[in-house]
Amino acid sequence: MRWSFSSYRQFKGCRRQWFYQNKMANANATKDPERKEAAILRNLQSLNAWRGSMVDYIIGKEVIPCLQQGIWPQYQDVITAMKALFQEQYAFAKAQKYREEGLTKTKAGESFLALYDLEYAPEKITREALNQAYLEAVQALKNLFHNQRFLEYLRSASRLITQRQDLQVKYNEHFTLKAIPDLLVFEEHPFRVHIIDWKVHSKAQRTYEEQLRLYAWIIKKGARPRDFPEVLDNLPITDIQLTEYQLFTNEVRTYDISLEDVHEIEQNIAQSIAEMTAAQAYLKYQQLEIANFPVNRSEENCRGCRFRKICEQPAPTQTQTSLF
Ligand code: SF4
Repeated sequence: MRWSFSSYRQFKGCRRQWFYQNKMANANATKDPERKEAAILRNLQSLNAWRGSMVDYIIGKEVIPCLQQGIWPQYQDVITAMKALFQEQYAFAKAQKYREEGLTKTKAGESFLALYDLEYAPEKITREALNQAYLEAVQALKNLFHNQRFLEYLRSASRLITQRQDLQVKYNEHFTLKAIPDLLVFEEHPFRVHIIDWKVHSKAQRTYEEQLRLYAWIIKKGARPRDFPEVLDNLPITDIQLTEYQLFTNEVRTYDISLEDVHEIEQNIAQSIAEMTAAQAYLKYQQLEIANFPVNRSEENCRGCRFRKICEQPAPTQTQTSLF
């Protein structure tokens, strides 16, 4: 099964939530309505998360391909594309099409969206809230376009790779670690690798060096994809550049990775995998007992939990059958 720091954080926070998301949710379980419902709820995104993923997607689709070809992307074209997608996705979510039988994420393609508040608190999705989310996404892109030096740096790179899906390390027979960095920048002469992750947070208090260092570790430790240059094998991990670009606050945060960091990553991975192994988290849904993944109710855990609908249902009562 797939391991990531975020899934481990979820496992530590509330094992029941982790169970719903990673074991129970299955869109193909047509004869099991609970598993289907969990699969629907798993897709829910908060308004802020949607805004962030929209910006990531538009950069990957409209900005990076131009830069890769040495062309300057046109700000207005990018904003127009984002606005159209914003409207299309919102219409999809509003009509709750993500609940339509047979309409999977793959089939719906880029118009797919399931919004948390439309399921749990539709009154919060006001015109103002939507407008604000859209304007913040525009601001994030505006900030990127104003950073001409950064765009020029990307434009002059040898290769730009967005959202690569095949970077992974098979840790043991049960766990695989996967990295999907937003952007990989390769430079030649001398060969360099730069990992960039876009973030769109209005306060941006949290930092993401742990995530970026894990990406570097996976890139170095995993099997090198065939189209990646062979020199990557000889590049010391400590030479990999790491950047978290907070687009809304326009803050470029760069991090190093030292050999001590590598040691710490490996220790953290080993410890968390040992904990998940002890809970037999790698077994299949049918082999597991939900009761072994207890709820951990707290304001912090449950406030934004996608699975409240199934979790907060009263436990089925035993029907009393009377002979008389
Ligand atoms: S509603 Fe709370 S207790 Fe239930 S799964 Fe979610 S976080 Fe856990």
